[in-house]
Amino acid sequence: MRSEIFPTLGIPETLAAGPGPGNTDHRVLEAFVRTGVADHMQEDVLRGMVECKHMLRQVWGTSNTYTFAVAGTGWSALDTMFSAVMPGDKVVAFVNGTFSGIDGLTLRIKAATPQEHAANPLDPQAASVILIDVPHGQSVTGEMVEAALAAHKPKWAFMAHWETGSGRVNDIQGFSDACLRHDAMGLVDAVSSLGIEDFSIDDFAGVVGWASCPQKGLCCLPLTYAPVSFADAYIASLKASGAYSYVHNPLFEARHWGIVDGQDVEKGTYHRTHSAYAVAAFHEALRLTLQQTLPERAASYAHHEAVLREVVTAMGCTVTSNMTSLLVLNLPPDFAGREMELVQNCRAEGFGIWPTLSAPVQVRIGILNQLTPTAIREIVRRFGDALKVLGAELDDAEIQSILDKHYVQAIAAQ
Ligand SMILES: *Cc1c(COP(=O)(O)O)cnc(C)c1O
Repeated sequence: MRSEIFPTLGIPETLAAGPGPGNTDHRVLEAFVRTGVADHMQEDVLRGMVECKHMLRQVWGTSNTYTFAVAGTGWSALDTMFSAVMPGDKVVAFVNGTFSGIDGLTLRIKAATPQEHAANPLDPQAASVILIDVPHGQSVTGEMVEAALAAHKPKWAFMAHWETGSGRVNDIQGFSDACLRHDAMGLVDAVSSLGIEDFSIDDFAGVVGWASCPQKGLCCLPLTYAPVSFADAYIASLKASGAYSYVHNPLFEARHWGIVDGQDVEKGTYHRTHSAYAVAAFHEALRLTLQQTLPERAASYAHHEAVLREVVTAMGCTVTSNMTSLLVLNLPPDFAGREMELVQNCRAEGFGIWPTLSAPVQVRIGILNQLTPTAIREIVRRFGDALKVLGAELDDAEIQSILDKHYVQAIAAQ
């Protein structure tokens, strides 16, 4: 045992330029800090939760009553969504990167029989779960979903909306349509698309369960609230089967958000201890999203991603992603194999870019809540410097002219 009281922990400000967490918005941090000490049944806390529920339905474009948020991060919301999947349930899951891979593992854990679970407790090989592997760097297409659902006729189908591991946007319309055609209930990991892409849940009738996170597109803090939304068909299935969880059973959890027996009620009732700070932060993040509006945010992401893509391409990198909040790229051929070195150099200087977490090794640069010319120029400067440290010779004038071409008007307007 080490007996020692360590000095007060200091953590520096860094530039979060990865897949997430993003740069928590200042308005959110201020809401967190100015909140008073109050318990989870205090009336303004309960009112705040009910207001969050209503704002979240607007952000997500849904009339699903069971729309609320789960304390934690993306995996907390995903665990809640997967809680209706019972041992032996037939599931088809599409895997095209790290995160949908972990979702696939979660589904095998949920759907495994007790025997399958005991045989391989950390990686149960559930016979009822069919994983469709889509190579890293490719999107899941509507045709792939159609073929797999036609062949297997599952109860549940699963896909990530945006797969952050490989930076790929998957075909949500094709997924939803195939689910409807084959009478499968669609479950979607929307952890990295909510708050960035302009989409509405109610346009995708084949998808009955959605899960997201606080700290990517919503600009909130990790470990505050991870949004979920469930259609009636999901709730009916859950009511019939139950779930092997108290805390992550949507029917229990929804009560604290003022949702009881499918109806909105005025005030929540106890499910667990909620944090006044987290409620205030989440509330402000939702207000911010609605004030900026999703169409404007989505357009801004698309604009800045295109600029950054053009610049890193001019630097000799090859971009393989198509998300608007994240570039996944290969370094110029001369530096192939040195991705980890570059990422570690950047991180050591507080420039928080990321490698991919599963093979092949690529570099990931994100722009979450970095939607200004100044922020993008700073990311470009830091990434360019890191490439130069490896020995790259960059044409600085060309890079500046690309940036000026896109941003000169914005600068003139400031
Ligand atoms: C980030 C991410 C997750 C995991 O979320 P946490 O907030 O780390 O729990 C899951 N799925 C996708 C698609 C993600 O981008």
